[in-house]
Amino acid sequence: MAIGVVMRGGREVRNRMSETMELSPEFLQIAACPACHSKFAVDYDAHELVCASPSCGLAYPVRDGIPVLLIDEARRPGERRN
Ligand SMILES: [Zn+2]
Repeated sequence: MAIGVVMRGGREVRNRMSETMELSPEFLQIAACPACHSKFAVDYDAHELVCASPSCGLAYPVRDGIPVLLIDEARRPGERRN
């Protein structure tokens, strides 16, 4: 299954998926935090990909099922959005 990902450089590939966040295992295997290259944990409630590195911990938003792996878009650890 192909999945659209917004990567640095601004090229965006969209696919039509349901509104629920469906991230393929293949994507999660290759996806890495652009800041520290750690793997992600998926926060399905917050619709975020959370960097697994304790020293990094950036949370990347998933918009319309598309992970936005941009450091500028990531939420810093400790910042809370209600
Ligand atoms: Zn990281």
